[in-house]
Amino acid sequence: LMQLSLPLGVIGFVYSEVRQALANIEQMFDLLDMDAEIEDAPGAKELMVASGAISFKDVHFAYDKARPILKGVSFDVPAGHTIAVVGPSGAGKSTISRLLYRFYDVQAGSVSIDGQDVRTVTQKSLRAAIGMVPQDTVLFNETIAYNIRYGRPSATQEDVERAAEIAQVDHFIHSLPEGYKSMVGERGLKLSGGEKQRVAIARTILKSPPILILDEATSALDTHTEQEIQAALDEVSKNRTTLIIAHRLSTVINADEIIVLKDGRIAERGRHAELLDQNGLYARMWNRQREATEVEEHLTKVRAED
Ligand code: ADP
Ligand code: MG
Repeated sequence: LMQLSLPLGVIGFVYSEVRQALANIEQMFDLLDMDAEIEDAPGAKELMVASGAISFKDVHFAYDKARPILKGVSFDVPAGHTIAVVGPSGAGKSTISRLLYRFYDVQAGSVSIDGQDVRTVTQKSLRAAIGMVPQDTVLFNETIAYNIRYGRPSATQEDVERAAEIAQVDHFIHSLPEGYKSMVGERGLKLSGGEKQRVAIARTILKSPPILILDEATSALDTHTEQEIQAALDEVSKNRTTLIIAHRLSTVINADEIIVLKDGRIAERGRHAELLDQNGLYARMWNRQREATEVEEHLTKVRAED
């Protein structure tokens, strides 16, 4: 990456090519899960997924020792359950997903899946068991079918189309001039944030992992797109152990447990109604978002009347 970043300022005209290459490399790191710092332990075993239960036990973590991000976080995601992590921006929500995926190791405590510490299993087997729908999906400069099939290269065209249907992106694909053969990415069709996210969901549906991590987009999607994406996410998280990093609280109402993260600790936890009753941080976040939504809806209505 260092070598590639040098020509950026020097040769302007190759900039877009290099940038695409960088985007692809970044995505390769994401998808092929290469990481310079984290290595398999000697004699690491394959992760054996029985039911896909996740356990964080007294986890402490800092990117930089001087600034702790997680200060003793414990929670369990029982097999097949959905747990949501919410909290202010910068609270460490995405960090939790990175520790589960083992992009980083905890400094104290443990992260385990079905009783196996993630540090004791091969990264390949760990990451094969986890499907991650990231906040911002970068697509390959390839056909839309390729981008979906990436989740399971052996999948048939029929499988690809079925996954697209479940992810509710099939209508969109059919509307493209070349359908599934349409080129996407920087050198092809530019997809909107919501479309890209649904392609990522289709890819994950195809991968069919026992464990799912959804890091929801912060970018304000319109209400209609949000509802479509929500329906797709509900479908893919059925019967899977799911960790949702939620920015929009409307998406976590049905979670089995909601964890409110603040200043590196769990400030509140419980189901939606319980947390509203507590009238604390979650209730305040909920009220603030509801007001914002009302204002947004009002403005949309006023504009429509103009
Ligand atoms: P959230 O998802 O809750 O918004 P993150 O887990 O992404 O927050 O980040 C928590 C904190 O850690 C933030 O203050 C962020 O700036 C910092 N952080 C995130 N990634 C890194 C990194 N790679 N190196 C150093 N600090 C980081
Ligand atoms: Mg985040």
